[in-house]
Amino acid sequence: MALVVRITDTNTAGGMAMAPRLTVLAEFLPLAAYMSPVSPHPCCGAPGCEIHCVATIAPMYRTVLADYLPVHIVTDPDICGHVRITGATTVLCLDIGGSVPGSAPIPNTPVGLGSSSGYGEVGLAVAP
Ligand SMILES: [Zn+2]
Repeated sequence: MALVVRITDTNTAGGMAMAPRLTVLAEFLPLAAYMSPVSPHPCCGAPGCEIHCVATIAPMYRTVLADYLPVHIVTDPDICGHVRITGATTVLCLDIGGSVPGSAPIPNTPVGLGSSSGYGEVGLAVAP
């Protein structure tokens, strides 16, 4: 299951998502903004560790949106390489998505509107 990421949720080094989406709450906390800045975390301050002082959550492709932008989930990476590890335990995103656009089928296409299968055509193949 993919837990959604809110403000104050942390990465593997303790870096917290800081920017909120004020219109969507999960367990009483705003969801983290798309590509939210992350609080400075180890090894910030050490030589060569500047990225951990100014990190953001990495951009992701996802079909589950909030305020028109993809939600972040536990396992999403930050641009510094640390990974999101805490999130709301009662609000789940069932679209895993990914960092490469078009890598997953697109669910939620109404049956009869462009696809008889109810899924997008991406990733589908028919054997000869
Ligand atoms: Zn980091």
